Amino acid sequence: MDHVPFKHKRTTLERAEKFISQHYFTDINLKSRLYREKATVTSIKHFAAKDRIPLDDALQGHFKKTSIGEAFGPVWSTHWFELEINIPASWVEREVHLLWNSGSEALVWIHGEPIQGLSSDNNRISYPLTSRAETSKLHHIVHIEMACNQLLGIGDLAIVKPEHDERTFTLRQAEIAVFDRDVFDLILDIETLHDIAKELPETNQRGFQALFTANAMINQIEVHDRSTFKLAQEMAHKFFTQRNGQSQHTLHAMGHAHIDTAWLWPYDETKRKCARSWTCTLRLMEKYPNFTFMCSQAQQYAWVKELYPGVWKDICKFVHKGQFVPVGGTWVEMDGNIPSGEACIRQFLYGQKFFQEEFGIKCKEFWLPDTFGYSAQFPQILRHCGVSRFLTQKLSWSLVNKFPHHTFYWEGIDGSSVLAHFPPGDDYSMTGKVKELLKTTQSFKEKGRSNHSAFLFGYGDGGHGPSEEMLGRLSRLKDCDGIPKVQLSSSDAFFSTLEAESPNMLCHWRGELYLELHNGTYTTWAQVKKYNRHCEILLQETELLCTLAWVQSLEKRSEGDGYSYPKARLEALWKLLLLNQFHDVLPGSSINMVFHDAIKLYKEIVSSCSGLIDWALRFSQATTTANSHGPDLVPFVINTQPFLRREVIRLPDSDCLRSSPKRRKLSLDLAGAEDDVDMTHVEIEIPALCVKPLSDCTLPPESNTQVTVKREDDLIVLANGKIKVLIDHLGRVTSLACYDAVKHRWSKEAIDPDHPANQFLLYDDVPLYWDAWDVMDYHLETRKPVLLPIQRLRIDEASNPTRVALEVSLQISDKSYLQQKIILEAGSPYVRFDTEVAWHENRKFLKVEFPTTVHTTEAAYDIQSGFLRRPNHFNTSWDSARFEVCGHKWADLSEYGFGVSVLNDCKYGYSAVDGILRLSLLRSPKSPDHKADMGVHIFSYALMPHTGSLQDAGVIQTANAFNCPLRVKELPLLPRSQGSAVGSGVNKSLFEVDTPQVLVQTVKMAEDETPTIIVRLNEAFGGSVQAKLTSRLKFSHVQACDGLEEALHHEDRKIDLQTIISDLGTEMSVQMSAFQIVSLRCCL
Ligand SMILES: [Zn+2]
Repeated sequence: MDHVPFKHKRTTLERAEKFISQHYFTDINLKSRLYREKATVTSIKHFAAKDRIPLDDALQGHFKKTSIGEAFGPVWSTHWFELEINIPASWVEREVHLLWNSGSEALVWIHGEPIQGLSSDNNRISYPLTSRAETSKLHHIVHIEMACNQLLGIGDLAIVKPEHDERTFTLRQAEIAVFDRDVFDLILDIETLHDIAKELPETNQRGFQALFTANAMINQIEVHDRSTFKLAQEMAHKFFTQRNGQSQHTLHAMGHAHIDTAWLWPYDETKRKCARSWTCTLRLMEKYPNFTFMCSQAQQYAWVKELYPGVWKDICKFVHKGQFVPVGGTWVEMDGNIPSGEACIRQFLYGQKFFQEEFGIKCKEFWLPDTFGYSAQFPQILRHCGVSRFLTQKLSWSLVNKFPHHTFYWEGIDGSSVLAHFPPGDDYSMTGKVKELLKTTQSFKEKGRSNHSAFLFGYGDGGHGPSEEMLGRLSRLKDCDGIPKVQLSSSDAFFSTLEAESPNMLCHWRGELYLELHNGTYTTWAQVKKYNRHCEILLQETELLCTLAWVQSLEKRSEGDGYSYPKARLEALWKLLLLNQFHDVLPGSSINMVFHDAIKLYKEIVSSCSGLIDWALRFSQATTTANSHGPDLVPFVINTQPFLRREVIRLPDSDCLRSSPKRRKLSLDLAGAEDDVDMTHVEIEIPALCVKPLSDCTLPPESNTQVTVKREDDLIVLANGKIKVLIDHLGRVTSLACYDAVKHRWSKEAIDPDHPANQFLLYDDVPLYWDAWDVMDYHLETRKPVLLPIQRLRIDEASNPTRVALEVSLQISDKSYLQQKIILEAGSPYVRFDTEVAWHENRKFLKVEFPTTVHTTEAAYDIQSGFLRRPNHFNTSWDSARFEVCGHKWADLSEYGFGVSVLNDCKYGYSAVDGILRLSLLRSPKSPDHKADMGVHIFSYALMPHTGSLQDAGVIQTANAFNCPLRVKELPLLPRSQGSAVGSGVNKSLFEVDTPQVLVQTVKMAEDETPTIIVRLNEAFGGSVQAKLTSRLKFSHVQACDGLEEALHHEDRKIDLQTIISDLGTEMSVQMSAFQIVSLRCCL
């Protein structure tokens, strides 16, 4: 007679655990029966490849016999294996797997096609050779491409340690085995029951029902007698089919594999990661027709399309079946803070274009699970690119304050909003375990408002995605009493459910989604940030000048000297920039080899743009000959900014001022010319978006804007009629004022009398863990001013009344030092600091500080196509957590009638508290890249006091101009008589706006290659305006369009646009609201 014992929860749980354990009692437990028979492979041959090579090349290699126990390396190398397999005849009709464990990532190739990825991480070591062995197919040849790295690169599992090169990878297992699917299912049954019993609280009877079911199943199962399995299976089935009530929360489970486009591995490895990861996914899709997988980043699709045509064919098949689901709409999952507004739009333009061309799909959501904060301009950029939904989870990493919502409307600086969702499980790499399901439901902050949330499952970061076990768990919990309901879903189905559910119940969040962590990434890897800023601007300048050339060429078509707009090349160059904006590259959080690749791509952009600009300018000015080496070359000034500029430019010598033939070749970019020898400085004025002879731009010297310099005790006083600045022997600003042209007097003092500005500071910068990512708030307590001069301030010999430069050099530490030129130019509203730092620190942070006399509660920061106000105090935990923030070209502190701005040409980290503005310059983290930021850095910033508001003072335009130095180029002179038929010649602006409130952000040719110019405007001041845009071109018609360049039809997004076209050109009148972005299709 059976005895009914007392049931102890812990012992029963552990009994179940051991019954399916991989580590305990494996000679007799159920797990031991998963592969119940094993056999060796007939032979293993090996070939060490020199590089990442295609299979065909590998097959030409000399394969030599090898065996289990052999080690392969070094790290990042590739090894190919050829396996000969003979399945024993006694295994006919059985499911047979190949078990391969090389301690690394690997890819199985069969008949010349990649079939499935393998990885020792997450124990993905089996490849199903056949689901049912047949007598006629017992012999197999399998190729394996072994990559000497793991899912998370090579940094041992402590991933943020610096990479090292010593490791090898040992072939631990290569054998075939009979797979018992009934055992596999029973293991999942018992594991799931165990987890329910463990995770549900003692007060919940359902947990005990699970516990007793698992216990009864173990009593029933005799592991060597398969006839005992059926009853156990029925017990599990009975439990899992006891259904939930209707009110239960529903989890939308979506397969996912977060593949960082580069991080602890280079771009080239990511290409193979995609193949390894997605082949696993495709094999699962073949087996489970309801399995859906969300996959973002068009760039990764493009790589697979190019390198793995067979995989690509399968992807296309499953995209059309609705299982492999493109999401996100962007080229890569980019950083959310640093890219410019235009670059963000291009992420969508080229991403959506790819998905539309390849699959006919336009993504409806922005998919960015893992980025370190999200710009307050995103909602509008998303809306402008046809996207109304947003998904991320990274904000759950915030250290101080918990974000109050999981489902909400996110509203941007212009008032646009998108429906946002953060998967409440706080992870994008779920495995379908009961604990994760319960956590998701329990932590969901919209309880009562909404009954649905997203659940992203699949191994991530290094890729690999969902497994069969995950699908098994989720299918058991589909509708199981006591556990949240789970349905395999897609992003579209999920968001559609939210939209239909209770949209009016959801809360709104206005402004940025600030991540209270990883705020060192605004500064780490300064060279990448510098290239990013430069290339963003350069690509836009190139597009503008190519458009100018194209227009000129169209106007002169009869002369047969056509210019072809380099659309494909420009698109390719933009894609290089967008790739480098990936969320571990631009933030500086990758290993060193990633940056090596990134810099190479940036250099390609710079040199290609330079060539494209040279070529375009020849057409912009060409008369009957495009030969620019003739005797008629004269210097031209090129203004690619959408406003009139009056500035001092640097020229090689005074000969340039004459429009006569000359001998000297001008440098393309005068701002890049370092040497002041034989340089002259002239003040010029040039209209917006225009190429004009230098002789027509030069201004006569004006005595009231010329620079004066004098000594007052230990100080040097610089003034130019606009600003007056006092500099001490350390190069610090002790006094600063600007001239109020309305009140005819100097403004109030801008600098705190007790604390000089332009004070360099060195902080200790030791984070808790994420070295390259994090700067902690306690670094503020380690402020050490840099006060040791190497060379005291002196007046530079090359100074003159148009430009005065002072020089100073300072010792930062015993290892690092800096040199600075402090420059004031005629008519300039700012004092400029050209800085060179030799930087060799370990976990130190260099900043420069500007203590102002401005009384305000907020600072304003330049962001994507607009600006954002953030607190200038630490009132609350939310305010103080923002001790380091991201801004672009400028930041400003203003009170009524007066303010101080700091401009920069390549920096992104700022802080403002109590009227002190600090610009973050350099960090020195050691992991994951121990060489990060070591060496010489050159950058510029400027200090600009102003009367009135930052808008009225022209801070935005000045900062844009600061980042985009005027170009001077020798070009053939266009005779006056050869003015265009539709205007009065090239030295008239292509586009002009009648208000400084509106900026022309972009001028480019339309992607559809119709003779159409795309013009993108943005309202920059944060107010409404009726703007008039005029062009010398006579367009046939003008239409408002979205960021994807598709004409707007929907009433709700209608732009109030009036167009008057005449023989004099086109006049467009647009009503714009605060921070609005408007794109126009101007058809010729
Ligand atoms: Zn990531």
